[in-house]
Amino acid sequence: MLKSALWAGLGGLWLGLSGCEAILPILTDILAEAPGQPVSVQADRLLPPCVDDDCNCGDFRDQALAQQVLDGFEGDPFVLDRDGNGLACESLPPVSSGLDPSVPPSDNLHLTLGNPSNAATGNPNNYLIERHQYALAYNRDRGIANWVSWHLDARWLGNTERQNDFRQDGGLPAGFYQVTPNDYRNSGYDRGHIVPSADRTANVKDNSATFLMTNILPQAPENNQGLWRGLEEFERDLVYQEDRELFILAGGYGEKDTLAGGKLTIPTRLWKVIVVLDQPGQGVAGVSANSRIIAIDVPNSNDLLEDWQSYQTTIDRIELATGYDLLSQVPVEIQAVLEANLSQE
Ligand code: MN
Ligand code: MN
Repeated sequence: MLKSALWAGLGGLWLGLSGCEAILPILTDILAEAPGQPVSVQADRLLPPCVDDDCNCGDFRDQALAQQVLDGFEGDPFVLDRDGNGLACESLPPVSSGLDPSVPPSDNLHLTLGNPSNAATGNPNNYLIERHQYALAYNRDRGIANWVSWHLDARWLGNTERQNDFRQDGGLPAGFYQVTPNDYRNSGYDRGHIVPSADRTANVKDNSATFLMTNILPQAPENNQGLWRGLEEFERDLVYQEDRELFILAGGYGEKDTLAGGKLTIPTRLWKVIVVLDQPGQGVAGVSANSRIIAIDVPNSNDLLEDWQSYQTTIDRIELATGYDLLSQVPVEIQAVLEANLSQE
């Protein structure tokens, strides 16, 4: 459930409260006492996940969201207001442009739980690509996907070897820059899979599809080879060991830097959401308010804790940071419960 109106309302309330000296020190104290821990319920409802680690201007999709964080912490601990004029990250767009117009529900298996950004073929920066193996929204100007969504159950898993055939995606529309494997050379970043190679091992074609550069983003090596891999193994173990059916969504947001002369963005943060179905084979009807949800939001850096559990967050906060509506095909009452849950693994 995208609570734009609610957020706007709460944001206004928050801005209204920010002048109240009685409340902010309490929040600041809570955060100071528990560094790296989930923030207080109030902050958790209002602020994006980067406040758990170290926000910077590259973490925010618009100035209004950065301003909300600046106003939420006394003393500007994240240095969002370098010139001290009271405004955070003035180079960002004032407000995000919002989602594209809604699109009809898709019968694509990978979009069973919804199309988080209403991706279609009209907006080159929210360009829907549907493959047998996964669906994604590509961003031409960033040279990476906004998000990728994929189904995972035992049918996708086999004995196919890792193909390692990283290659540009020739299926992109004319005029789109096609990122190449060489664009990553000497960058210090891995060619990080969004859909992992090992999630598509039923046959060569499926595995090879994960090596198209539209499924790859610049990922800090210790992130890719550390906790991110750990969560990938965890998701497959749910299938191998418990025969579960999953829907998985992942992407990167923010801008840390660029490669390929500005045509390939290094995202500041990476997120992943795993929805474990209660009942296999029932599509969205297999999701209930008791469904197990795993959600993480992690800095795209080498300076990380080793366990993905340390970076768990709520879907609500990922929606706040990205502007997407995750699980939009799930009934709104169920979304409200699942998206506010801080899963404890
Ligand atoms: Mn939602
Ligand atoms: Mn990887």
